[in-house]
Amino acid sequence: MSASTYELGRLHGGLRLDSLKEQSTSHSIYEMPVPARLVLPISQHVGSAARPIVGIGEQVLKGQRIAETGGTLGAPVHASSSGRVVAIEPWPVSRRYGDAAPCIVIECDGEDRSIEDADALPAYRDTAPEALLTKILQGGIVGLGGAVFPTAQKLAQALAGELQYLILNGVECEPYISCDDLLMRERARQVVGGAQILMHALSLDVAYLVVESDKPDAIRRLGEALAELEDNRLVLIQVPTVYPSGGEDQLVQLVTNREVPTGGLPSDVGCLVQNVATAAAIYDWIIGHEPLISRITTVTGDGIVRPMNVMARLGTTVAEVVAFAGGYTDRAELLIIGGPMTGKSMTTDRVPVVKATNCILALSEPPKQGRARACIRCGECAVVCPVRLLPQQLYWYACADDEAKMRLHGLTDCIECGCCDLVCPSHIRLTADFRKAKARIRELEDEKARADRARRRFEARSERLDKEQRARERQLLAQKETARRAGPDAIAEILRRKQKDEE
Ligand code: SF4
Ligand code: SF4
Repeated sequence: MSASTYELGRLHGGLRLDSLKEQSTSHSIYEMPVPARLVLPISQHVGSAARPIVGIGEQVLKGQRIAETGGTLGAPVHASSSGRVVAIEPWPVSRRYGDAAPCIVIECDGEDRSIEDADALPAYRDTAPEALLTKILQGGIVGLGGAVFPTAQKLAQALAGELQYLILNGVECEPYISCDDLLMRERARQVVGGAQILMHALSLDVAYLVVESDKPDAIRRLGEALAELEDNRLVLIQVPTVYPSGGEDQLVQLVTNREVPTGGLPSDVGCLVQNVATAAAIYDWIIGHEPLISRITTVTGDGIVRPMNVMARLGTTVAEVVAFAGGYTDRAELLIIGGPMTGKSMTTDRVPVVKATNCILALSEPPKQGRARACIRCGECAVVCPVRLLPQQLYWYACADDEAKMRLHGLTDCIECGCCDLVCPSHIRLTADFRKAKARIRELEDEKARADRARRRFEARSERLDKEQRARERQLLAQKETARRAGPDAIAEILRRKQKDEE
């Protein structure tokens, strides 16, 4: 089915933004050299931090697992090159706005020797889906579109429902970011091959490969890869260039015209969305035996001398990537990890490239925002909101710190896309307020969950102690009865023992 014959669903709101991607798309992907030192955070994903399984001084090989999945939701971390572990210590990381988090530091030996994949699958088509999911987990694969949700667990969750479609997200709608575009242009075969592996793991017969219409080269290369494979289960779809059509729920709406319910998941309407880079990472692991140890990152903005896309080993610092791209221009003032709409400002470039680092953006000045004024109730924010929220209403509740009302009015559905900020004539930083309120709600939920766990533990302990006390009393009565028959000395002995027990 060609893009022109496919009938798309309707996306609510959104904006047509200047793409500003051409700065970084005029060159091929540059392969960065292995740095002298790698800094690998043990938490590069949603869920529990991984648990280090190497010690200081230990020699490691490229692709070796150095931290094991730390909980039911998580992913392992692998060495991105060979060398020696020199520290396991806190280091500034981008997922926490430059705050420090535990990292494994490897001094590279320059040999880049790989470990053999001892559990390599003979052929994925002969492998049961469950075994394939376990293998994907072992490769440390997480969602590379920015969400970094562990892929194997996402697939397992989706399999628990009635899945119909796999949607490969190659939309990349946020300005400046072009790593997926370059991936699709230069590694289309890996993207399509990864989609086939996912379809096998999910036992699916239909997958949509979705790309925005402003990426003609990527569309052409994907089309060629599909033609070569002659796999008509995969359908290539072009969608209009509108921000944020690459949001999971928005993409599901566009492709299937199905609405993901409030608080729900795409799998609730039979869909699973995976980023194209995640599909390529799965291909590299299952077919090429290389776990997730590197990624394509866009380094761009008017604060960078030679904007480009690089293939960087995870653990390379942002400072090294920027230096590889010619360094900062004299005008560089603002460093963002991610795009201008959803990225995070950084105060240091010592942070390492991690699984989530799709873009390093250096700008000469912050996006113009002006001084915030009172809301004039124009309603523009509601017109552009892709999840049909009423941002002006939420803003009133945010000013009153009324999280319960914000929740009631759908705050947790906000995807923090920033569209409402861009159109607000009063320059109100709505998204920042919503982000803060969502973090506060998460904190309260965590606190409540902790309190509930503590209460349950306390109740269980009290119940156990009561039971033991009752058993002791029954035993004492029985002993007293025996002693009454035996005489006063035996009674005194029992009472002495009881007192000792209580002490
Ligand atoms: S766009 Fe700004 S001024 Fe207009 S209703 Fe929304 S918050 Fe108020
Ligand atoms: S940031 Fe949230 S409230 Fe604002 S437009 Fe995006 S989804 Fe709607």
